[in-house]
Amino acid sequence: MMSIVEFFKNLPRKQCASCGHDIEEQADCYGNVCDDCNHPAR
Ligand SMILES: [Zn+2]
Repeated sequence: MMSIVEFFKNLPRKQCASCGHDIEEQADCYGNVCDDCNHPAR
């Protein structure tokens, strides 16, 4: 049986839906875009 740690290890890395850059430890409220693409000034 897969442990909870292994489960998270096997999750695909989140990538920005706009530029494809890896997203690291972001809250779900950011959606699927990185900080750069989610920046309010852009
Ligand atoms: Zn991006």
